[in-house]
Amino acid sequence: MRRIGLTGGIGSGKSTVSMLWRELGVTVVDTDAIARALTAAGGTALPAIAQAFGPTTLDAQGALDRARMREIVFADPAAKGRLEAILHPLIGQECERQAAAAAGPGVVFDVPLLVESGRWRRLVDRVVVVDASEATQLERVIARSGWQPEIVQAVIAQQADRRARRAAADAVLFNDGIPLEELRADVRTLHQRWLGEGLR
Ligand code: ADP
Repeated sequence: MRRIGLTGGIGSGKSTVSMLWRELGVTVVDTDAIARALTAAGGTALPAIAQAFGPTTLDAQGALDRARMREIVFADPAAKGRLEAILHPLIGQECERQAAAAAGPGVVFDVPLLVESGRWRRLVDRVVVVDASEATQLERVIARSGWQPEIVQAVIAQQADRRARRAAADAVLFNDGIPLEELRADVRTLHQRWLGEGLR
């Protein structure tokens, strides 16, 4: 089964492209949703997190207290690595479980930080990047979330820049100032190229 990695900066339109791929009947494995489920109340990552960082990392509902975890990571940079050592294998297992359950010629892995993380590159056959200008990213995220521009800018600055992302791409879906219909057609073309007759 072909494995496609989908990524893009915040507000690039990555979730929109995920949806367009699902419209074509392709299974999309959403790594962000998996990470959230692992750390929501009852999530399978919580016992190990509570053991590693103490019971104060869980909130009253028994979910991961993100603000508390951020404080811990801020105070102790090594804590981030320890948290990732707990989460990454569990995310990986759940991704593989969902991929194994998928039907059809391929599966798409939606990975926000694919370019930044490095480890994802060897787990996929092709990488597609959704690309938009920073001005467009900013505009979309503000419209969607109402966040202050400085906050959005800080998030964009933490992520890989446009050039680094495009350098890691086997294909780029340009999504700036184009109608949804055009993006839909571009996803369909890529789908046919990569999941049709064979990888090209
Ligand atoms: P991401 O997942 O990359 O953060 P989204 O797919 O959620 O981005 O897109 C951000 C916002 O921009 C959403 O509200 C989405 O509906 C809108 N959007 C994305 N692409 C287009 C487009 N081509 N035309 C109009 N609006 C778009």
